[in-house]
Amino acid sequence: MKRREILQKLALTVPAGMAFPSLLNSCAPKDPPLKPVYDGNVIIIGAGVAGLQAAQLIKNQNVSVQILEATDLFGGRVKVNHDFFDFPLEQGADYVYGNSNPWHDVIIERGITLEEIPKHASFVMDGIPDFEEDLVGRGDTDFINAQNFIGNLKNYGGPDLTLQNAVVSAQIAPRAHHVVEGQVATPNGATYNNMSVKGISDNLKKWDGGEGRFFSSNQSLIQILSGVYTDVLSLIKFNTPISSIDYSDPSNIILTDKNGETHTCTRVIITVPLAVLKSGSIAFTPSLPILNTSAWNRIGMSGGIKVTLSFFSNFWNKSSTSIYTEGYAREYYAPGIVRTNSNRVLTALIVGDQAEVLAGKSDDEIFQLLLADLDAIYPVQGGKASKEFNAAESYLFDWGKQEYIQGAQSYPLVSGTGAPAQMATPVQDRIFWAGEATALNGNSATVQGAMESANRATLELFDVILDI
Ligand SMILES: Cc1cc2nc3c(=O)[nH]c(=O)nc-3n(C[C@H](O)[C@H](O)[C@H](O)COP(=O)(O)OP(=O)(O)OC[C@H]3O[C@@H](n4cnc5c(N)ncnc54)[C@H](O)[C@@H]3O)c2cc1C
Repeated sequence: MKRREILQKLALTVPAGMAFPSLLNSCAPKDPPLKPVYDGNVIIIGAGVAGLQAAQLIKNQNVSVQILEATDLFGGRVKVNHDFFDFPLEQGADYVYGNSNPWHDVIIERGITLEEIPKHASFVMDGIPDFEEDLVGRGDTDFINAQNFIGNLKNYGGPDLTLQNAVVSAQIAPRAHHVVEGQVATPNGATYNNMSVKGISDNLKKWDGGEGRFFSSNQSLIQILSGVYTDVLSLIKFNTPISSIDYSDPSNIILTDKNGETHTCTRVIITVPLAVLKSGSIAFTPSLPILNTSAWNRIGMSGGIKVTLSFFSNFWNKSSTSIYTEGYAREYYAPGIVRTNSNRVLTALIVGDQAEVLAGKSDDEIFQLLLADLDAIYPVQGGKASKEFNAAESYLFDWGKQEYIQGAQSYPLVSGTGAPAQMATPVQDRIFWAGEATALNGNSATVQGAMESANRATLELFDVILDI
């Protein structure tokens, strides 16, 4: 069999992501690993989705592989909090975006129900919440222009500006700017003054993950991951934060962890978040090529605080899926809406500038600021939110403060065209890059982006190591 055919057999020559189900199936007895296998060993840094996916693919081909994870948990930015609610409440990734991508498909294949979130959001205009149909019915042209702007983003052909400057150029009235910011920038972990409109448009053009937003109705995403990646969980060495990578010896790569232990391999796949790389907490010897490191500065990753406010009763409207506001949280969404009858929780991801403003404050101070925002929107009886607030069931998680994550998600910056591909360029055919920031199919900042980045990095690795 020719090399190309073998790679095809490995299902890695089809567009990354499409390969996912057949790759996992390739460990079934009817389709044994291909020989000859590689006699070196691969280390993967990070046990998030990208690290687990890469490990699964490599193990399937009988290549020696280990994952080194800084913390005592796998999943990275997929993390659940079970403490207070009668359904799994996610601290990191929550929605499954699109109905035609590897993440969606693998969940369905496991027989898990995904519930589509209906499109029924409230938008606060001039301080008053209203549904889209009412704003459109009343002919609120500022709101309609903002919605049309979002609808046309995929066709954006103008200059490379921040989303904010593009909104101003499009003469969207300031009273509707948050409508764009909350729906476009917030889900990507960004504020509209630092995200590139061209980058968003390019991602929308490349996106082939399908339509809709879904919640897993009963299993947490980490439960799903542990089922999908059962085979590789035993390959993880926890509490092993890598602090330096020495690849000066052409035969071996020496990784040193913070405990002073060394780990040797012939190839490494690095999946740590972009913000961790930017912080310089992993030292490289020799220095990495400028091609890779300059790309880091052309991709954004800001802080992100996920706040869950629990209330004794729903005061905002039980049919409202999200509330878009001008306050600290540009979007509150109702995670209970499709999963349980107790629809009395609002979750907000506060990112970018707003997250920085709140960073020095205590949990309770942050709760009070958000409650004041909500009281102003729902003012009946001196503030519905404060009156109904259930402090004992509310909590927040600050992703910017997690030493081995340091932010929410990556997003495109102005002048960032091509940066993810540059960042993902292998170094000396020995260092490979995966992780959501290196996703190339318009799906960075998502779980499926992390999976697809691992498929791509593994293909690059196989291309080098498999003796075909
Ligand atoms: C609040 C929030 C909400 C989100 N919402 C959604 C959503 O609704 N839908 C969606 O699809 N996506 C969402 N995402 C994005 C999604 O979670 C990520 O894109 C995806 O999980 C990233 O996976 P990864 O493997 O690339 O990185 P990570 O999950 O960050 O994994 C990297 C791993 O590397 C480890 N690590 C870091 N440094 C070191 C080191 N020095 N040595 C060893 N290990 C190290 C980390 O501990 C971590 O386990 C959200 C993210 C956040 C933060």
